[in-house]
Amino acid sequence: MFTHYRTQGIIIKKIDKGEAARIFTIYTRDFGKLKVLAKAERKIKSKLRAGLELFYLSEIEFIQGKNYKTLTDVVLIDSFQSIREDLERLKIAYKISEILDNFIKEEQADKKIWGLLSETFDRLNNLKLEIIYYYFLWNFFSILGYQPELYLCSICQNKLAPEKLYFSYKDGGIICSRCFEKIKSEEFEATTSETVKILRLILKRKWEVVKHLKIENKNIENLKNISNYYISELQNNF
Ligand SMILES: [Zn+2]
Repeated sequence: MFTHYRTQGIIIKKIDKGEAARIFTIYTRDFGKLKVLAKAERKIKSKLRAGLELFYLSEIEFIQGKNYKTLTDVVLIDSFQSIREDLERLKIAYKISEILDNFIKEEQADKKIWGLLSETFDRLNNLKLEIIYYYFLWNFFSILGYQPELYLCSICQNKLAPEKLYFSYKDGGIICSRCFEKIKSEEFEATTSETVKILRLILKRKWEVVKHLKIENKNIENLKNISNYYISELQNNF
């Protein structure tokens, strides 16, 4: 007899397998990221179908077979309706899924990541704010142990002044203008003290403050640049 495992999870990816089956990637509360097979899911009468859509929060039950985990029951908890009805929110949900897919190994339960992920989807369902994505992203990396230095220059260790600053993956965080002048040849991403302040609030998990910030477009643009820079550097070194 097979053991039946039950947990909750958010569906982050689905791919077809053969004629009627699909493999779902689900980030779960109790087992971390899982790949589970849904047999005959595409046949119309499948009872699993109602709870199996991308970005659904569902209660799932599965068995561990020889090669695959197979879904035996799925009950929808929250379909996050506002996310699926809004292209911008949907894009954020896709970016989050991609990050989880690229940076998380399978079957490593992490209550902190589960907490961050489920609160992020709740927020995204209730608010249309781009900062929700950056809040998720930087706290996600922080949980994985990649929190950058944001208070002192990562090279000379002096307190950062409100001046032009640089983000250096290799040095582990922000560096000051003077250090940048000395070693210009390396790869950096330019940033500003305003962006660094936003990042500090994000990493202090001050959501109530962050969600009310009036962020200028140029700072959102800069946040986007340093986030993409950090993602690609981490990916290259993962
Ligand atoms: Zn310095």
